[in-house]
Amino acid sequence: MASKFLRVKCVCGNEQNVFSNASSPVDCKVCGKRLASSSGGKAIITNGTVVKELD
Ligand SMILES: [Zn+2]
Repeated sequence: MASKFLRVKCVCGNEQNVFSNASSPVDCKVCGKRLASSSGGKAIITNGTVVKELD
């Protein structure tokens, strides 16, 4: 899978970009929830939904 950015909407309503090949966890900048964890160099979305894939 090619690396790209995912536009992720958190459960709190905040949207932010998450790198699809994130090597470290990403937390929501607004509420602090874990938006994505990393598994084998790939982001696993945990507390939100992917609204768009950005190239
Ligand atoms: Zn949030």
